Amino acid sequence: MDSVPSLELKPLIGLSKDQLLAILVGVPKFRATQIWNWIYFQGVASFDQMTNLPKDLREKLKENYSIERPQISNHQKSMDGTQKWLLKFPDGQEIETVFIPEDSRGTLCVSSQVGCTLTCKFCHTGTQLLVRNLTAAEIVAQVMVARDLLEDWPTKTENRKLTNIVFMGMGEPLYNYENVAQALKIIMDEDGLWFSKKRITLSTSGVVPMIEQCGKELGVNLAISLHAPNDDLRTKIIPLNNKYPLKELIDVCRNYPGTEKGQRITFEYVMLKDVNDSESHARELIRLIKGIPSKINLIPFNPWPGSGFERSTSARIKEFSALLEKAGYASPIRRPRGEDILAACGQLKSESKRVVKHKRDPFDFEKANIS
Ligand code: SF4
Repeated sequence: MDSVPSLELKPLIGLSKDQLLAILVGVPKFRATQIWNWIYFQGVASFDQMTNLPKDLREKLKENYSIERPQISNHQKSMDGTQKWLLKFPDGQEIETVFIPEDSRGTLCVSSQVGCTLTCKFCHTGTQLLVRNLTAAEIVAQVMVARDLLEDWPTKTENRKLTNIVFMGMGEPLYNYENVAQALKIIMDEDGLWFSKKRITLSTSGVVPMIEQCGKELGVNLAISLHAPNDDLRTKIIPLNNKYPLKELIDVCRNYPGTEKGQRITFEYVMLKDVNDSESHARELIRLIKGIPSKINLIPFNPWPGSGFERSTSARIKEFSALLEKAGYASPIRRPRGEDILAACGQLKSESKRVVKHKRDPFDFEKANIS
């Protein structure tokens, strides 16, 4: 098992270019650029590998700074090729990161928080109280660890194993916006990891005030964890809906930068048997998102211990999809990935805890079955 990175050395990963230059007092700008390139383009994990730096500079860097990755506490590989890593940070907190290989792309699902403040009823992470936000460094490190393990360095222009990034792991990214934004700017930097914003999707449960800023500042694809077509039902599944009801959420989606040019918003819709999967729910959904360039990802519910939900039948999901398609919306049915290692959508969780015991409201099927 890898060693836990030291708390004493200052981490360089996660600093912006300006911050890197500022922290490396006395180091000329071109040397800072070389260091940036070694870290994010070449992906080296030790200062000794930075062979175009003078030896005394490398020694100074080693004495004061760190470019170590977090410890990999556990690594699981699913029968379908999905991989899940449990990463441990120097303070002992842990999060999960998942890599999903497909024929034409490889997607990394990254976490933005240890635990989550929200309690979306279908989500395993939602049973774990928020422990803390991840730093920009800890978010960027997830991408770097994946590239290490996939042997995907240096940054390539083609034939990458890791091609896409989605913020759909543990946590609500828009409740940790500052760190997520800083991490994304590093991830998108052309002199380093260089992921196009077109290949990055940020998924939110609907933190309305931050969505517009995210679009303007970062321009990444937006996915909305929607899961219900009306306020009554959505509030039961996603309590945050009480604070930011559908009208506000849909309005902000309508105005998300890029939609005027046809850039699509993704609406995620988990298929919960007898909860949100009827024909009238589908029709209501079509009315709700009318006029927004969008696609709807239908996600067969992925069970986890004690969830209390069941997955809609395949026939029901297909009928639901057909109704949406007929109305002109692409509505692919997501193939569950990594279920055997609890790596599928909504299944992530780590053992990191806050002291307070989490009380979860039971989900009331009777009351929820509102069409
Ligand atoms: S779906 Fe996302 S926002 Fe909701 S509880 Fe799970 S991790 Fe948190």
